[in-house]
Amino acid sequence: MDFALSPEQRRLCEDIETFAVALSADLEGLRDDAAAGPSREIWRRCAEQGLTGLAVPKDYGGGGHDAVTTALVLEAFGRGCGDSGLVFSVAAHLLAGAVPLALCGSAAQKERYLPDLCDGSVIAALAMTEAQSGSDAYALSSRAVAHGDGYRLDGHKTWITNGPVAELLIVGAVSEDNTTTKGPATVSAFLIEADTPGVERPPAFDLLGLRSAAVGEISLHGVELGPDALLGRLGGGAGVFQCAMDWERTCLFAAHVGTVDRLLAQTVRFVKGRRSGDATLASRQAVSHQLADLKVQLEAARLLVYRAAWQLDRGRSASQHAAIAKLFTSETLLQSAITALRLHGGEGLRCGGELERAYRDAVAATLYSGTSEIQRNIIAAFLGLR
Ligand SMILES: Cc1cc2nc3c(=O)[nH]c(=O)nc-3n(C[C@H](O)[C@H](O)[C@H](O)COP(=O)(O)OP(=O)(O)OC[C@H]3O[C@@H](n4cnc5c(N)ncnc54)[C@H](O)[C@@H]3O)c2cc1C
Repeated sequence: MDFALSPEQRRLCEDIETFAVALSADLEGLRDDAAAGPSREIWRRCAEQGLTGLAVPKDYGGGGHDAVTTALVLEAFGRGCGDSGLVFSVAAHLLAGAVPLALCGSAAQKERYLPDLCDGSVIAALAMTEAQSGSDAYALSSRAVAHGDGYRLDGHKTWITNGPVAELLIVGAVSEDNTTTKGPATVSAFLIEADTPGVERPPAFDLLGLRSAAVGEISLHGVELGPDALLGRLGGGAGVFQCAMDWERTCLFAAHVGTVDRLLAQTVRFVKGRRSGDATLASRQAVSHQLADLKVQLEAARLLVYRAAWQLDRGRSASQHAAIAKLFTSETLLQSAITALRLHGGEGLRCGGELERAYRDAVAATLYSGTSEIQRNIIAAFLGLR
């Protein structure tokens, strides 16, 4: 087992962290704007750094990086960038949009869409969730019926990251004629350009956290699609969705490992400088042990993420390892935000401060990509408990 980074991986990570720190400084003051989504200028700067196409093959304009390198680079992005909403938006675009398209799309679909997804001119969103189908991901009401040589889609999606701003949507819908049938085998994935007639998108949600991301609803009213809109095979939507989830639960959560690393470093600096009585906070064991525990959680989360990425790179099923990495990292992220906030005392609670924002942003990580309870269900199923 070799834990050493290659010179290229080290250089990539250093470059991205430097970029992310500079970007954060530029975003200071307007980062927590409500639900506008990332500006195109900021998105273009991320694309110039290769972030929007990291794991997409070079032939289609991407970086051609494997999952381990993608995880390392996103970890560096999360460590350097204080705008978690931006990191989340870019990672969702890459891991739930570009990667499943690169892995499941036809040659024509890849040629048509991937270069624009990589160069930042097109933003992608994956739309599965519906009002009555969140944790029960395949209990979809959206329907795709045969229409001419293609399909006609009706349905309503909610909680879609980048949904209000994306130009390209990957949409899950039941494609069987029998509308009473439910379950993974009935679901297909469709590529829908957001300006197709019948696609409607209200303004993004006003959220507690991740306020700089655009998360919202998508309505589909008789959206007519050609046969080339089908992503993967008919009834193969679950495979597309699982591919997206395996990559997202691994590499998006690598970015969160980076965030935990930053929060820990920031809190260590704070307790070294803050005095309580005749000593610094750092010299109080009740304080230092909290940070020692957080360091252990950080390193464990990092290893779990790298392990899941390693599985992805070997073409082995990564679903169990991705669920373990997602569960542990999301809970660690939330714990790190609470620990950082508490150890900063009253300053941690100040509205507009970095820590109250980190706390608000961290809560969401236990929900998206499947909640913590759903990750436990997945892990239990791998243990033969369901
Ligand atoms: C910020 C954000 C971004 C998102 N982005 C996307 C996106 O880009 N695309 C997309 O398709 N979806 C997206 N989602 C949706 C997300 O995947 C769902 O919110 C999530 O799967 C939970 O579904 P739900 O909100 O309907 O909650 P519910 O399924 O109603 O769950 C409510 C509670 O019940 C628990 N629960 C539910 N079922 C079980 C069970 N069987 N066993 C134990 N506990 C259970 C849950 O863990 C949770 O605590 C996003 C959500 C958020 C918050």
